[in-house]
Amino acid sequence: MKNRGDSVDCDILVVGGGIAGLSLASALAGRTGVLVVEAEPTLGFHTSSRSARQLIPSYGPAVIQELTVRTLALIRALEVHLPEPVLTARSFLLVGSEETVRDRASGHMHPVTPAQMMALAPELKPEHFPAAGLDTTSVGCDTDALMEYHRRRILDRGGRILTGSPVRSARYEAGGEQFGRWVTEAGEQHITSRVVVNAAGAWADELAALYSVRKRGLQPYRRTAAIVDVEHPLPADAPMVADADETFYYRADGNRVLVSPSESVPSEPMDARPHAEDVAALVDLVNSVTTLGITGVVKSWTGLRTQTADGLPVVGYDDVVPGFFWLAGQGGYGFQTSSGMAEIAAAMLQGEQPKKAVIEALSPTRAGL
Ligand SMILES: Cc1cc2nc3c(=O)[nH]c(=O)nc-3n(C[C@H](O)[C@H](O)[C@H](O)COP(=O)(O)OP(=O)(O)OC[C@H]3O[C@@H](n4cnc5c(N)ncnc54)[C@H](O)[C@@H]3O)c2cc1C
Repeated sequence: MKNRGDSVDCDILVVGGGIAGLSLASALAGRTGVLVVEAEPTLGFHTSSRSARQLIPSYGPAVIQELTVRTLALIRALEVHLPEPVLTARSFLLVGSEETVRDRASGHMHPVTPAQMMALAPELKPEHFPAAGLDTTSVGCDTDALMEYHRRRILDRGGRILTGSPVRSARYEAGGEQFGRWVTEAGEQHITSRVVVNAAGAWADELAALYSVRKRGLQPYRRTAAIVDVEHPLPADAPMVADADETFYYRADGNRVLVSPSESVPSEPMDARPHAEDVAALVDLVNSVTTLGITGVVKSWTGLRTQTADGLPVVGYDDVVPGFFWLAGQGGYGFQTSSGMAEIAAAMLQGEQPKKAVIEALSPTRAGL
């Protein structure tokens, strides 16, 4: 990678310093010249610092489940380089009516009896939840440690990261017989690159427009979470519990509990903030269906989960504009698919054709986008 004053030349420019961009740059670093630009002063400022930190192999369509299983294997392999494990055992218990649990349960989830459900989560009021499914392969994830691992790896392998550098404009310089190059203005930097990767999260469609690329209908949806004090803390080995109708989920967070109303409300790309009335309604709901006894809200936050119309991410080269690669639309699966998706994207960026079925399922050229 060459640096001339405020001008930088690299092979692959990754726009977005969340888990998607960092995982990909980490997979590429040392193999090619990679530069990450992030608009905010810190990495992971938006959705990637606002998740529930749970990886659930039974969650999502088949291709998401496959990427989740691969991500778990890749994170377990990288954990050997870290002083503390990134993943910790934490099962996932889905509760609700017979029909909704059956519809949501798949793959790694198996049904449990009402008595088993109550043994696993005695705080539930059983009259509200006739059926349950358990995913024992699900784990908690130290997402900060995972992002820090990727940041370190990028830098150790000669990659670069520029924070506080929003991409403002771009143009493509055709190269005649040669490949052309992107010229991107980001913050004070003038960056030339062979490829630009769109890992801009909620801003992915806006970023595409800056590069004159057709938008793919990437819609951000609000999702709120809160840390609450409770009368009856959960044991450390308690499963994460989620209602199959997606009205709430919760899990232990030390002596406190993380709760979410599981809402999916469309939003503009923005620094989303919680609505006090949503948090109050959540507290009432959880107190009515469990014996946790929420006594107060310690903090709450909102992030944007960005999805396409079919709910699958968009990964791969744009079919019209040269050198523009999509890595967006991770929705509620961004951490659990991060390393698996980065592995596939890195291979594609290096001219390989890995996992044909996965590439086709996530392709920016698929029908409906
Ligand atoms: C409440 C909640 C709970 C969740 N729980 C889980 C969970 O348990 N497990 C799981 O796997 N997933 C979960 N998710 C989803 C997960 O957090 C996201 O899928 C993931 O963080 C998305 O990562 P990203 O890198 O695509 O986006 P982001 O983290 O938003 O990163 C995109 C970055 O691009 C930058 N950017 C945008 N435009 C520009 C520009 N023009 N120039 C430079 N930079 C730009 C932004 O500043 C941003 O930092 C949850 C989400 C929420 C909101």
